[in-house]
Amino acid sequence: MPRSTSNGQCFFCKDSFSKQTIARHLNSCGQRVLTEKKSSGKKAQGKIFHLLVEGRYAPQYWMHLEVPASATLDDLDGFLRDIWLECCGHLSEFIIQGERYTSSSPFADADEIDGLSMGTELGEILQPKMKFSHDYDFGTTTHLTLKVVSEKEDQSASNDVQLLARNEPPTYPCYSCRKPATQICSQCAYEGTGLVCDDCASEHECGEDMFLPVVNSPRVGMCGYTGDEAAW
Ligand SMILES: [Zn+2]
Ligand SMILES: [Zn+2]
Ligand SMILES: [Zn+2]
Ligand SMILES: [Zn+2]
Repeated sequence: MPRSTSNGQCFFCKDSFSKQTIARHLNSCGQRVLTEKKSSGKKAQGKIFHLLVEGRYAPQYWMHLEVPASATLDDLDGFLRDIWLECCGHLSEFIIQGERYTSSSPFADADEIDGLSMGTELGEILQPKMKFSHDYDFGTTTHLTLKVVSEKEDQSASNDVQLLARNEPPTYPCYSCRKPATQICSQCAYEGTGLVCDDCASEHECGEDMFLPVVNSPRVGMCGYTGDEAAW
């Protein structure tokens, strides 16, 4: 998979910023101030963390999130699965300060799960500037790196994960004709000959069953991942 740096979009004002400058923008976005004023007015409810999540080996995929300290690792894992990861209910885990926190899965053997529980609240573990990791699927693994950008008092009463910003979909050339690729052959993805446009897909020798859509996620082309239908 060729790398490219990607710009991203602010969830509040929809403007585009580079990966390097968007964190600063999020601190001063006028539209965000207006949005958050509307939903606040209550007393502070506790702390809230600003997190940056990115693909460890695909840093062109990234998101800025806000997560209340009272949310659990399960809540964060669920959000990451919904927007970037979920294909067939694989196990996942966070590794934070050397400790493993493993998801529960109805498909997993109990003895496969040897980490701590994801029921732990973020506020019990996370500190500003802390870096940690998340792995989804212990077979065809998608590795993510997370960083606590900052923490502040939470003005909202919600326990939900809030998306602040996200990279715009990177475009990749078809390996054969260089037009923008729309599909990826999961068989050839690792040889660098997996990305194809619709025209060239019909001539690709692995057959249609091997194709996955090119989606805006670090899990693109892996296992059976077809993307988040609700993505913006
Ligand atoms: Zn903005
Ligand atoms: Zn899968
Ligand atoms: Zn092509
Ligand atoms: Zn192929």
